[in-house]
Amino acid sequence: MSQLTLFWFRRDLRVHDNVGFYHALKGSEKVLPVFIFDAHIIDKLPQKDARIELILQALGYINDAMKGNQCTVGMYRGVPKAILTELLNRYPIDRVVTNRDYEPYARERDQEIASHLEARGIAFETYKDQVIFEQDEVTKDDGKPYVVYTPYSRKWLQAFEENPPREYPSQSLLHKLFTDEALPLLDLDSLGFDPEDFNTPPFRFDDALIDAYEETRNFPALDQTSRLGPYLRFGLVSIRDLVNQAAKRPDNTFLKELIWREFFMQILWHFPHTKDQSFKSKYDRIPWRNNEDDFQKWCVGETGYPLVDAGMRQLNQTGFMHNRIRMLVGSFLCKHLLIDWRWGEAYFAEKLLDYEMASNVGNWQWVAGSGVDAAPYFRIFNPTEQIKKFDKQHAYIQKWVPEYQELSYPQPIVDHKLARARCLEVYKTALDSV
Ligand code: FAD
Repeated sequence: MSQLTLFWFRRDLRVHDNVGFYHALKGSEKVLPVFIFDAHIIDKLPQKDARIELILQALGYINDAMKGNQCTVGMYRGVPKAILTELLNRYPIDRVVTNRDYEPYARERDQEIASHLEARGIAFETYKDQVIFEQDEVTKDDGKPYVVYTPYSRKWLQAFEENPPREYPSQSLLHKLFTDEALPLLDLDSLGFDPEDFNTPPFRFDDALIDAYEETRNFPALDQTSRLGPYLRFGLVSIRDLVNQAAKRPDNTFLKELIWREFFMQILWHFPHTKDQSFKSKYDRIPWRNNEDDFQKWCVGETGYPLVDAGMRQLNQTGFMHNRIRMLVGSFLCKHLLIDWRWGEAYFAEKLLDYEMASNVGNWQWVAGSGVDAAPYFRIFNPTEQIKKFDKQHAYIQKWVPEYQELSYPQPIVDHKLARARCLEVYKTALDSV
């Protein structure tokens, strides 16, 4: 049994049903909990970032839960390896435990830390917490990764039925927490950030939402999706809880969205180069126009196509955009404006509260046609027809682009028909060339 374990919170910011935290507490006399604002990530963020506020809020909830045990999470800012080394020098830690993070940078960082700890004779244990199935747990019969969603989801569901996830009652072991009043606390100010103008809205998740999801999910004005994205991203909720609840309902449309999340995670794990290269490499031959002026108009929501503009303004003002509209604005950027999907991906990464590299890259490549299981490139959304299908009453447009029928509203920056023909020509020429 370990005498003192360091538990490193990362994308798992909760005390309940937390696999790594549970094992840390169970296998140790005492556990020292820490969170590190990783300089590699935090130094690149804008001055206002609601995601930092959400992390601080989550750490506050954890501290509240630990109050009865006179413990708080030690909060640090810097390079994780250096901070961990400092902590090892200060406390008699003999084991470090954390939950696995599958993004390419995190994998490299953890690899380096594992070697560093090993050299000091300190055990480093990592656990699966943020997914139901990891990269190698749902594969084709020959062990190769799936690159098509439908067979992946079928196998996923089968594996889930055979082996439903259990709960890890970490919250019942908090009496093992280590008490040290000297553990530092950080806040927005000490981290050097200004408060964002908006907050992360609460999530909604109950049987009624799951049951109505299939019918309501495509209509942005109804705003009937769960808003779980940021909570899943930072682990304020347990994926096992969500999936177990969703799986009990008769309709599995919602469950299948959660499977999309894991599908893209295993894709990024097996094909880490897709973070900035096309999965189908010939798509990297497309000569993007990359017109800066068009890009700016897209970013601020002044393309003259009201449903596109509504989406971009919703994103800029709230950090969220409805999925249906994400698909449309993505398609518009890549196909109508012929701007590289990586520009759009980077803009979303900066703005989305629920930014998740695997889902963002996976969906952007889906939109551009360059990814796994993507729509064929010649299927191009018509931004005006999309209004008839998904915002017939113009309620969503009215909310975000109230001036859309006034003279002050810009003319379309490209003609749909011409842009469509240009896109088909450019894609075809690039993809057909040797
Ligand atoms: P709900 O509709 O309530 O779905 C519940 C959960 O299922 C989501 O929170 C998410 O975890 C998962 N999910 C749903 N749809 C998808 C999907 N298509 N792919 C992967 N997971 C899904 N999702 C992100 O979590 N992070 C991103 O950075 C991201 N970028 C995107 C970029 C583009 C261009 C597109 C088209 C989609 C992107 N998505 C991303 C997927 C999807 O739009 C969001 O997950 C969803 O809109 C979040 O809102 P919600 O939590 O209310 O979702």
